[in-house]
Amino acid sequence: MKSSEIREKFLKFFESKGHTIVASSPVVPGDDPTLLFTNAGMNQFKDVFLGFDKRPYTRATTSQKCIRAGGKHNDLENVGYTARHHTFFEMLGNFSFGDYFKQDAITYAWELLTDVFKLPKEKLWVTVYADDDEAYEIWNKSVGVPAERIVRIGDNKGARYASDNFWMMGDTGPCGPCTEIFYDHGPDVAGGPPGSPDEDGDRYIEIWNNVFMQFNRDEDGVMHKLPKPSVDTGMGLERITAVMQHVHSNYETDTFANLLAAARKAVDAAGAGDCDADSPSLKVIADHIRACTFTVVDGVIPSNAGRGYVLRRIARRAIRHGYKLGARKPFFHTLVPALVAEMGEAYPELRQNEKRATEVLKQEEEAFFRTIANGMEILDHALEEMQTSGAQTIDGDTAFKLHDTYGFPVDLTADVCRERGVTVDEARFHVLLDEQRQRAREAGKFKMAHGLEYSGSPTTFHGYDTLVHEGAKV
Ligand code: ATP
Ligand code: MG
Ligand code: MG
Ligand code: MG
Repeated sequence: MKSSEIREKFLKFFESKGHTIVASSPVVPGDDPTLLFTNAGMNQFKDVFLGFDKRPYTRATTSQKCIRAGGKHNDLENVGYTARHHTFFEMLGNFSFGDYFKQDAITYAWELLTDVFKLPKEKLWVTVYADDDEAYEIWNKSVGVPAERIVRIGDNKGARYASDNFWMMGDTGPCGPCTEIFYDHGPDVAGGPPGSPDEDGDRYIEIWNNVFMQFNRDEDGVMHKLPKPSVDTGMGLERITAVMQHVHSNYETDTFANLLAAARKAVDAAGAGDCDADSPSLKVIADHIRACTFTVVDGVIPSNAGRGYVLRRIARRAIRHGYKLGARKPFFHTLVPALVAEMGEAYPELRQNEKRATEVLKQEEEAFFRTIANGMEILDHALEEMQTSGAQTIDGDTAFKLHDTYGFPVDLTADVCRERGVTVDEARFHVLLDEQRQRAREAGKFKMAHGLEYSGSPTTFHGYDTLVHEGAKV
């Protein structure tokens, strides 16, 4: 089954259960300053859950464009390293606004996976929130999942990708305990079942989260009861597609086949010659062209702060991976048409904005290609010196110089370092960055005091600065 059919089948299934099919909202949230990018299907319904907004329906289903590359849910560092994480992905969801609750949510999910998608029941595992006996009983008694495949899990235990059965959209907002469904990709893949010490592996992959929305968390961490218990679910289209197409990695699905081939061709034409088709760098590029194009299409342009800076970080990271493979001139923007061919039918806004997206990314790419070679030379040199000295951390001054003079976002520098098994002194980097911002502010004040136009660095909205910092530090 192709991924487009899976999307369609999901939406039709929930339509047959009385849900209204609602279009995806943009990846840039309308008027929610707590959110950098849309990170889940429920975002567009946040006010409905909170009781501030009413819709003509109490059940909805969507396929939502999501970006997780900054803020609370940040998977930028995972891309290229796990089989299941993207910066951009589609989240399939069904929602109940004070309508059905645990019993129906769980039985719908099971019916779709086992009756419609025909997944073998014995390959499915579930987790429930530690003390959620109700959900446990529904899975065990009503659905018939044996106790040995139901795992009780509490709040995040601190592991890198730890299962966490209390879902929060961000530090504030709607939240609640959840139950998650995992698929066992079999003993050929490393990793333990959810809740085990080696759950970080890719054998048992989380495919679907069903959240029982019950609280609104405020800035002080206090939980207020929602007007009505509700349901919010999210299943990654790319992950369920991998399962349905009997492949392990999302990158082996039909969604990525053409994009990966296009990425390889473009990198080869830009100087790589004949790059390794299995290189993780190609996966990073194929992933990042989706995130960058959708972000530009929804109205963001690369810049030095906020959303624009997240976009710049993703784009430059992809470009650096192409450079690593041997590309010596712009290639990244030439992938936009391949993406439009792949996803333009489901997301017509891609077709409408193809030219503009190509142009915006081309300009960003041309700008970075002017400095990347010199920056890489400095970085390579520093890494070589470290090899001789045995140091494990690249100094913050070098990272800052790369950032300031050569346009290397610090996470890009960290990405290169990670490939060589070393880290970056990010604490020192941030001290230098803060000092520079302070100087820019002072200069700005001085000029304004003298009636001159402000030309300091763009430090406008601090909420986003924090998010950018947070993202960069992960
Ligand atoms: P993981 O533990 O694998 O990082 P998650 O628990 O952070 O996933 P949720 O916030 O529960 O994910 O999101 C709901 C669903 O969205 C997940 O079950 C998964 O199918 C999908 N999903 C989440 N993050 C990503 C991602 N970065 N790329 C692709 N799919 C994702
Ligand atoms: Mg995650
Ligand atoms: Mg998880
Ligand atoms: Mg989850």
